[in-house]
Amino acid sequence: MNYVDLPHNKKLNLLNEHDGDWENLEQSKWCLHCSQSFTGLATRVWKDDDGRLWLECGTPGCDGSPIDWAPYPWWDDTHPATIEYLKKNPRTENGPGFLDDEFDEDEGEDGKRG
Ligand SMILES: [Zn+2]
Repeated sequence: MNYVDLPHNKKLNLLNEHDGDWENLEQSKWCLHCSQSFTGLATRVWKDDDGRLWLECGTPGCDGSPIDWAPYPWWDDTHPATIEYLKKNPRTENGPGFLDDEFDEDEGEDGKRG
């Protein structure tokens, strides 16, 4: 594997390109492959034969890629980090993105909104 050392700003750009929502390199994520958390700083960058850059999990020896990464270990419901995350970000069916545009014509109501 042809590992490369990117300047921090470039690495952050690459992380956001492949994975999204990285605010900085100190942020950490969880990897489904190794079930460990790692920071953006620890992630490894390697270059393929076409010169494209790819990211690898920050845990030594793990070849997890951005599709394996998550803000919390969702695969483990009893993990303290999962419980903590869901406490702050409760799962809701009526959250953003849930469209509920029904046009109800309520006859007899005068349409007052309270
Ligand atoms: Zn990993």
